[in-house]
Amino acid sequence: MEKKDIKWGELGFGYMPTDYRYYAEWKNGAWEEGKLTKDNTITMSECAGVLQYAQTCFEGLKAYTQKDGSIVTFRPDLNAERLQSSARRLLIPEVSTEMFLHALDETVKANAAWVPPYGTGATLYVRPFLFGSGPVIGVAPAPEYQFRLFCTPVGPYFKGGVKPIKICVSDYDRAAPHGTGDIKAGLNYAMSLYAGELAHSRGYNENMFLDAGTRTYVEETGGANFLFVTKDGKLVTPKSSTILPSITRRSLVYVAKEYLGLTVEERQVPFEEVKEFAEVGVCGTAAVISPVGEIDNHDEKIMVPSGMNEFGPVLGKLRETLTGIQNGDVEAPEGWIRKIC
Ligand SMILES: *Cc1c(COP(=O)(O)O)cnc(C)c1O
Repeated sequence: MEKKDIKWGELGFGYMPTDYRYYAEWKNGAWEEGKLTKDNTITMSECAGVLQYAQTCFEGLKAYTQKDGSIVTFRPDLNAERLQSSARRLLIPEVSTEMFLHALDETVKANAAWVPPYGTGATLYVRPFLFGSGPVIGVAPAPEYQFRLFCTPVGPYFKGGVKPIKICVSDYDRAAPHGTGDIKAGLNYAMSLYAGELAHSRGYNENMFLDAGTRTYVEETGGANFLFVTKDGKLVTPKSSTILPSITRRSLVYVAKEYLGLTVEERQVPFEEVKEFAEVGVCGTAAVISPVGEIDNHDEKIMVPSGMNEFGPVLGKLRETLTGIQNGDVEAPEGWIRKIC
């Protein structure tokens, strides 16, 4: 298999259609057998549930080339489970873990020429998604659905070296108590775009959202979960029923305990405590961990002790260990790596 002629090291995070994508339709109460297709467009009713009432959810994961040339994915069973939980909340028919993994394996295999080679820092980003494709005008779940999965090569996250980000506390809320903050749904993103653009226009990379009920506790950025390191080297990560259960965060908690021997606290984190931490970062599939250097809340400026130039030692070590596991340079816990080909 000959790789595509792409300057892997120069790729950004954008959409580049590859040769194949997978789709399956849900009709008459069941999923039909899925297929690969070369067509990257979708034709559906103007009255589709996704278009009228935003009935859609998605996942995001990556395929990696390891040193021996094999192509692998990282804990995709957890993406399948999370997609099931998102689907249940939105009354979308669930895709079984078996069907999810089959779609993933087939699509990545068919696009093997697009999977960035080992050592380039680039990866193949995979986007599975589910949506109501059948028509609804009265408010109700759609009568038909599609499950799709496409992939696109994406560049190394920290191209010109690590740059800690600057974030601000948002005046808007991301997720209501008992709302949809814990599912991966487009609707959570649509309503955070305004707050996101506002933060960007003021020179910030991201928003820090506080809990909507009391505006006291740290939630997440809206696309990544928070990690904090105390001055005595403990890892702290916010616990809340309205943040998205990041697979990267859950994996880092395990790595911190089992590989690095750190004490980990998963608990509520009052915003008042943030100025006490030695290191701050946000984590997700895209960057694994991005360090945070500055957090502003109106007139209050918190300069994180690890600074604006590099990773703090604990988050740096955590990131290195997890990327090592994903690339095959560090031995993975049982069941974390799924070899595709
Ligand atoms: C996807 C996502 C994350 C990160 O989750 P990972 O599984 O680590 O990629 C964090 N927050 C939100 C709101 C997300 O949608």
